[in-house]
Amino acid sequence: MKKIRTRFAPSPTGYLHVGSLRTALYCYLFAKHNEGDFVLRIEDTDKARYVEGSIENLVKILDFMGLEYNEGVSADNDGKIVQKGNFGPYMQSERLEIYKKYVDELIENDYAYYCFCSQERLGKMRKNQQVQKLAPMYDGKCRGLNKDEVQKLLNEKTPYVVRLKVPKEGFVEFKDLVYGKIRIENKTIDDQVIIKSDGFPTYHLANVVDDYLMEISHVIRGEEWLPSTPKHILLYKAFGWDMPEFAHLPLLLNPDKSKLSKRQGDVAVEDFLLQGYLPEALLNFVLLLGWNPKTEEEIFSLKEMIQRFELLGVNKAGSIFNTEKLDWINGIYIRKMNLDELTKLCVPFLIEAKLIKEVSSIKYQVSSTDEEIDFEYLKKVIALEQERMKKISEIGESVKFIFSDKLDYEKELLIWKKMTIEDAKNNLQLVFEELKNIDENNFQSEKLLEILNDLVEKNSLKRGEVFWPLRVALTGLKGSPGPFEVAEVLGKEKVLKRIEFAIEKL
Ligand code: GLU
Repeated sequence: MKKIRTRFAPSPTGYLHVGSLRTALYCYLFAKHNEGDFVLRIEDTDKARYVEGSIENLVKILDFMGLEYNEGVSADNDGKIVQKGNFGPYMQSERLEIYKKYVDELIENDYAYYCFCSQERLGKMRKNQQVQKLAPMYDGKCRGLNKDEVQKLLNEKTPYVVRLKVPKEGFVEFKDLVYGKIRIENKTIDDQVIIKSDGFPTYHLANVVDDYLMEISHVIRGEEWLPSTPKHILLYKAFGWDMPEFAHLPLLLNPDKSKLSKRQGDVAVEDFLLQGYLPEALLNFVLLLGWNPKTEEEIFSLKEMIQRFELLGVNKAGSIFNTEKLDWINGIYIRKMNLDELTKLCVPFLIEAKLIKEVSSIKYQVSSTDEEIDFEYLKKVIALEQERMKKISEIGESVKFIFSDKLDYEKELLIWKKMTIEDAKNNLQLVFEELKNIDENNFQSEKLLEILNDLVEKNSLKRGEVFWPLRVALTGLKGSPGPFEVAEVLGKEKVLKRIEFAIEKL
């Protein structure tokens, strides 16, 4: 059987879109599932759209996401772009000679032709078509030029493009592995430009030549390329080449069902990472945008994805990009993380939120009080939130109360349900007296819970009427981790200070 080879073929036009990450992931999974090769090819023939640094960025992100490829463009240890593999070069801009050879062959065999039409003429033609409500298409003026006419124009150095000579009759038919049988009438297909006036090939030509020469067995790409596929098939036929299989992936949609775009939120993978989404969670999320395991399972490690992924599980309907789901998945991955690792990821966000300053790699200083703390202490702070956290970037906001010198909240918040201000004050006073006598070393959440439970029972109080005011006194928040865990992290001195402050407020 032919070896399975897939390729991810991005154009270096800026950031990596989450949709492209999904394409890369599916190409990777399909190759790995079938013990095949995954190739990274850079499609950089559109000079006008090239963005400096985007290849480096792309390689870095794929690497960070753990999508290892067997061949293609990659970075060495210094971040310099290099290429590896037997089918190179893998940058299309380095393959111009190759394309030239194949275009000459197409022209020679009458599958392509020189077109000398000026921009002005094409512009007028398009306007006329618009007025007549016709589909924009080249009218074929240069299709009929004979060899001498062409030679004369070439000798006169008339600017030209090369166009594909699409047959006027017949149809193209193919079976897409996701969308099924597709049939397109040739008369609806434009005489596609395959070599531009700057001598560079267009995407269509370069893509087909490279997929063939690089022995790609499966072309997996976004649905937006489906309309181009008939043109590609005509090219394969013109060259007399065997075709790869095609699988187009469903569109990504905003919750309002419009096409996912930059305008409605961030779509750059890098932005998601900067916001504190974990790479594993992001991959898991994009996996489910268009593929399902046909079971209720939703959480997959990369290894499990490789085991389970089949193109058969890809659906045709557009997939809604639901960030709530992404948050939910990220939360699951955060909870699975080891506390050390999680704390390391959180520290930069705490620094950015100006809650702490870095003194050394293990020593920090609380910004509001100059108190020195260490990494072990930060781990305790992060542990408070690990169960609730959805995004690493939220950590500053959620643990701000731990580091603040003085909490800011309305005194009404201290009141649980229908209790009176007087009761809240008395209860806090009772708690204060009780905690005052506890040894600093016994300031541990389970111990505190035990002691305060006894206090509640002894005085026939309602738990909510004691624990709610205490929790608010310690955090100043409507929602937060429990009072005993927080008390342990704050330590005796701060706990007593905060309770006193609350009593004064009431
Ligand atoms: N260069 C195209 C892109 O930027 C690749 C499309 C394909 O995979 O054929 O998406």
